[in-house]
Amino acid sequence: MDTYDVAVVGAGPGGYVCAFRAAQLGLKVALIEKRPTLGGTCLNVGCIPSKALLHSSEQLVFTRDHAADHGIKTGPVTADIAGLMRRKDAVVTKLVGGVAALAKARKVTVITGSASFTSATSLTVTGAAGQTVIGAKNFVIATGSAPVELPFMKFDGKTVVSSDDAIAFASVPTSLVVVGGGAIGLELGSVWSRLGSAVTVVEFLPKIAASYDDDIVRTFTRVLQKQGLRIETGTKVTGLKTDGGKSVLLAEKDGKGLEFPGEKILVAVGRRPFTDGLGLDKAGVVLDEKRRVKVDARLRTSSPGIWAIGDVVAGPMLAHKAEEDGVAVAEWIAGKAGHVNWDLVPAIVYTDPEVASFGIGEDAAKAKGLSVNVGRFNFAANGRAIASDATDGFVKVIADAKTDRILGAQIIGKGAGELISEVVTHMEYGGSAEDLGRTIHAHPTFSEAVKEAGLAVSKSAIHAI
Ligand code: FAD
Ligand code: NAD
Repeated sequence: MDTYDVAVVGAGPGGYVCAFRAAQLGLKVALIEKRPTLGGTCLNVGCIPSKALLHSSEQLVFTRDHAADHGIKTGPVTADIAGLMRRKDAVVTKLVGGVAALAKARKVTVITGSASFTSATSLTVTGAAGQTVIGAKNFVIATGSAPVELPFMKFDGKTVVSSDDAIAFASVPTSLVVVGGGAIGLELGSVWSRLGSAVTVVEFLPKIAASYDDDIVRTFTRVLQKQGLRIETGTKVTGLKTDGGKSVLLAEKDGKGLEFPGEKILVAVGRRPFTDGLGLDKAGVVLDEKRRVKVDARLRTSSPGIWAIGDVVAGPMLAHKAEEDGVAVAEWIAGKAGHVNWDLVPAIVYTDPEVASFGIGEDAAKAKGLSVNVGRFNFAANGRAIASDATDGFVKVIADAKTDRILGAQIIGKGAGELISEVVTHMEYGGSAEDLGRTIHAHPTFSEAVKEAGLAVSKSAIHAI
């Protein structure tokens, strides 16, 4: 039996970051992954390939629909799907190769195969090379998540598909019905709509991107509709039928039956924690009521020496949250003071414009009875946004009415995902809206809208009435 200080199961952003930090701290580390490549869902089939497709399809829309407005002449512009997919695959290959190179440089032992606990102190890894038994002082469960299936329409990889398939279609479906108006549905729905598919998003709740404030979602919905997406909210999916060889999604809205024919149906209704085949019962690790690995405030499971991080535990299923979990656990294992601020996890939908948030929103603050001041600044009044044809959207900063301390922010606009970081940093250090508004921002930048929103909290924005 090979023995380690730490054996990490799963090499996604949670697992590989944990392994690297543990190695940095001088521990002997094994990183076990059943995929042939490292990087997990995020690098192989999630964050990275979806962003590569979003970027390529954004270039297509600019060249096809807007280049002429800038005095740029082009010939006929068409999408070469094979070329687009090749580029996306090259991006993934480069990144997963980078992670493998880092693992080697940090002397992390990578073991390829499926891990299953045999006790609280050992597991077996079954791979192409047979079985290996691994013992460790600490195990970290970082096995991530898998797409949720609707019971009456199982994934078949052809018509009823998950995001794993929708990042790799060989051709543009003439029509795509997306079930779920969350991050995956809106990002991949945007990609295929830009490439020419007739996309309908069917969402159960009264609004898409439901965790955002109503005013953000109203703007978001209007912009997506202008881009050609059909959005049906408050609509309950009830089944699937085949009509003349074509698939038709059946749904109900306000008691009336609706039918949505689609060449493909992308089901994007969330992801479930993945612990299949892990033998958790043999290790004494228990799950919570949502089948996530149950952990305490230090990410310790019910079994001493076994930790769990990322999508497989409670909290937002986001790569950067998994990474921070991983760093903290490695530090706790090494006897250091690990720390994660779970109240300050930014979330972004990478559509165009992007939508970003962190902390508490205006609607949630008011629902909780908190006394807040909200500063808002529109990109329509920002010089850089006007020069860049990117005037859709606005920045909102939410601050405590008494202390002016920043409690959260929401942004819809070009590059919102980059802009939100600044406000997160201010909040991390206990900053006020006035601090944000008095910080010098270079001109002309989109970030001036963030500064102005900070000033707007005390009704002192300079470029708005
Ligand atoms: P994962 O990345 O899921 O990694 C877990 C790994 O464990 C997998 O590689 C799996 O093969 C392996 N594994 C499982 N069981 C075993 C076993 N028994 N033995 C060995 N190995 C095992 N998040 C963002 O923050 N930003 C984004 O833009 C974003 N975009 C996304 C787009 C899509 C289409 C999807 C699907 C997800 C996206 N996410 C995004 C979510 C993000 O991918 C996850 O939050 C993140 O990957 C979670 O990291 P993790 O390390 O917990 O798990
Ligand atoms: P999600 O939870 O973000 O959205 C799912 C949506 O589907 C919700 O709006 C929900 O109300 C709706 N829904 C649920 N059941 C439904 C039904 N039966 N009919 C119609 N609508 C239904 O989940 P997702 O978009 O599948 O993404 C999964 C996870 O991956 C999320 O945790 C997300 O944070 C993460 N992710 C993040 C990013 C990003 O950060 N940009 C991108 C993709 C995925």
